[in-house]
Amino acid sequence: MKQRPRQPFVPPRRDDTVRQELTALLREEDLTAWELSGLVGISEKEVLEHLEHLRSALHGRLDMTPSRCLECGFSFQKRERLKKPGRCPVCRSERITDPSFTIG
Ligand SMILES: [Zn+2]
Repeated sequence: MKQRPRQPFVPPRRDDTVRQELTALLREEDLTAWELSGLVGISEKEVLEHLEHLRSALHGRLDMTPSRCLECGFSFQKRERLKKPGRCPVCRSERITDPSFTIG
């Protein structure tokens, strides 16, 4: 049995390409990770990883509209993480909006 070639096929999309697509979309409008996932065709988790990278690469030009609790209106202003919080610290509700992103 011959050894497999090290790179049997080119991955469907390189990170750079995905980041360019995400950047282009975010320059146009304000989108959530879930929406970006559908538009670019990668998982929400992957979108968040790319956004983390873009956040540092763009030196703060990635703007985040914070998550908000639909029960009490609490806004997660100080949250640094890009992922949606699981639960409201004030009322314990799990009805929380997704943060959305845009590039200013
Ligand atoms: Zn709440």
